[in-house]
Order: sequence, then C-alpha cells, then structure tokens
Amino acid sequence: RKTGPDANAPVAVELEGVGKRYDGTVAVQDVDLRIREGEFFTLVGPSGCGKTTTLRLIAGFEEPTEGRIRFGDRDVSGVPPEARNVGVVFQNYALFPHMTVGENVGYGLRFSEPPGGASREERVRELLELVDLPGTADRDPESLSGGQRQRVAMARALAPGPDLLLLDEPMSALDARLRERLRLQVRSIQRELGITTVYVTHDQEEALSVSDRVAVMRGGTPEQVAPPRTVYRRPASRFVAEFVGDNNVFEGVVAEGNGGVEAGVGADSTARTVPVDVGGETLRVAVGGEADAEDDVPRPGDSLTFCVRPQHLRVGRTENGVRAEAESAEFLGETTRVHLGWGGRELVVRTEDPLSGTVAVGFDPADAHVIGADPGE
Ligand code: ATP
Repeated sequence: RKTGPDANAPVAVELEGVGKRYDGTVAVQDVDLRIREGEFFTLVGPSGCGKTTTLRLIAGFEEPTEGRIRFGDRDVSGVPPEARNVGVVFQNYALFPHMTVGENVGYGLRFSEPPGGASREERVRELLELVDLPGTADRDPESLSGGQRQRVAMARALAPGPDLLLLDEPMSALDARLRERLRLQVRSIQRELGITTVYVTHDQEEALSVSDRVAVMRGGTPEQVAPPRTVYRRPASRFVAEFVGDNNVFEGVVAEGNGGVEAGVGADSTARTVPVDVGGETLRVAVGGEADAEDDVPRPGDSLTFCVRPQHLRVGRTENGVRAEAESAEFLGETTRVHLGWGGRELVVRTEDPLSGTVAVGFDPADAHVIGADPGE
C-alpha cells in the first residue's frame, strides 16, 4: 500500500463518547474518533491532554468509565489486551536485556503461533528484515543504538501479525536526528504492511510528518481531527493554531467598510475580504469561498479571530499590515525567526536578514485564516 486510506475505508477502531476518570481526575472525556483501516492516525497534544490514556483504552490496559470502543463492529469492552490482537510499542522500548534480539522478537509470539504457518525462526527473521535489521538475531540488545532497539520493539509488536499497531511516544528517548530517521522508517513499515496504526506524540512536527490524520487533543478531548495539511492551514481553534507550528493570532472586530466585499482574492474567485479592526489598525482578511454559505460571512461588529503564519507575514509590506518593533531574533540556519512587538502583542516573522528598529509587516488577505471557519475533516 503506497497511499493512505480513502474516506470510505471501513472503520477499524471507533471510540464513541469515551471518558476515563481516576477518582477525581478526568483523564479523557467526550472522545469520539473513527480510525479507518490502514490509516496512520496520530494523537498529538501537550503533556497531560490524555493521549496516553486514550491509547491505553484502545489497547485494553484500561477500561473506559464512559462510552464504548469498537474494533470494526465488535464491542471490545472487557476484552483483555492479549485478546485484542494489537501490537504495542512504548517509549522506553522495554527489551529484555538477558535475551538476544531474536528472542526478544520471538517473545512477541508468546500468545500465538506465527501467522501464515511460518516457523518461529522464519517469522523472527522476516520481522528483522522488515525493520531493516537483518542478521541481528543473535545480538545482545545492549549492543544496538536506541533507534535500532526501538525497531526491535516494533518487530516484537508486529510478530503475531496484529490488526492494529499502537505506538506511545516511541521516539521520545532518541536524539533529534535519529527521531527524524526513525519516523520515516516507521512510516514506511506501516505503509508496507498497510496496518492500522495509532501513534501518540507531543511533537507536532512529528505528527504532521507521519500521519494520514491527526487528532489535536486538549484537556482530554480531541479539539480537531483532520489531515495534517488541514490542521496546519485551517486550524479549528486558537489552541490548534498556536499548538501546530508557529503562528500569529489576531483578535479583532469586523469593521464597517465597503460592504465587506471584495471579489477575487487569491486563487479563489468567490472569496471576499472583510476589514477587521485589530487594536486600531484595519486589516483585511479573506473570508468565505465556495464552501461557505452566505450567512457564514461575518458582519460589522462581530468579533473575529484569524491567524497568519510567520512565512506569510512579509517584512517591508506596508499594505494590509502594521508597524512593529523588532525585539529578538533566533538564527535557525535556513531562516531567522524574529519576534516583533506591536501594541503589547507579539508577532513572529521569518526573514533572511536580521531586523532592527521599526519594521512594516503585512500580509495578503488570502493568507489569513479565520479561526473556527470550516475546520473540515
Ligand atoms: P504525557 O504526554 O505527559 O504522557 P498525556 O497526554 O499522555 O501526557 P495522560 O497520561 O493520558 O496524558 O494523562 C491525562 C491526565 O490523566 C493527566 O492529568 C494525568 O495526570 C491523569 N492520569 C493518567 N493516568 C492516571 C492514573 N493512573 N491515575 C490518576 N491520574 C491519571
């Protein structure tokens, strides 16, 4: 399988109104998710938002206090983890140090025979090839790098041929470069097998790079569930806008203007712009487009929150912009991220040249996204 599943693929895992409380603490609540067969689905969000708990509920290590979990149309309430046919990989690889690599992978077969009538040895060899560690069966896990150990853990999880692969922060113990390599490997193994995968990470870049869809979680509940590009380009909330990548969020009030309508914004000839008063400046923002009904268009006096990515805030552009003060800069190699102050607000831009003093920054109305509008799936 080379591409992700389409929207019509059967549902592999469904969470309906799922909640989990521990005494007084609500770990997750109101979780409604439908994960499709073959999908690489990621739960992402800050520490404590309920990612791990959601994964443990799917695995069967915990039972929900509310709601229902189904695999296909089978309700898995009360079904123990070993009977759910899931493979699980944790953050700290948890390989047994007194066993060889091959024995560790073979341990994955303790509850079941190898699929397809293979012998255990054949299955172990096949899995080590799959994770690109051929010929390591007799090695001691301690002799492997962190990334290699994590691939052994994946081989062990996949050995019984599970229907579902669950990965909980599998890269968080690795350094940045290794993480980038491993995530490509994980993605390619997942594609090769076409296995439905639920992945947990707090790293939004990792989530965007590997997933077919992501659920951005906050306070125990998914706030937006959508493909990576949608989450990035059309965040459904201020929280998502700020959690996923750098962003500039503006809060204002729709101003009186020339009817608020101006045809032909960017590539979408039906989009309009509205003037928005943000701290005394009037900024034009594209709204609507073909997908939107007439009554979704904001009216003068409505409050409106929109965001503009740093790469879309153009330095030196006086039209549709503001004048701000350069405050600090971070040299990132390919680009420099400059923080600007404007009326008590902070803006972030990317530039090639260092900036100082007062700078004009402006944006194309079509590059602004109105938060909350058409979050889409
Ligand atoms: P992290 O990235 O830090 O692991 P997370 O998003 O995975 O965070 P969870 O581990 O699912 O979040 O925790 C969600 C909330 O539930 C937290 O407030 C946590 O303290 C609480 N919680 C989780 N497990 C338990 C437990 N066994 N007993 C009590 N509270 C718990």
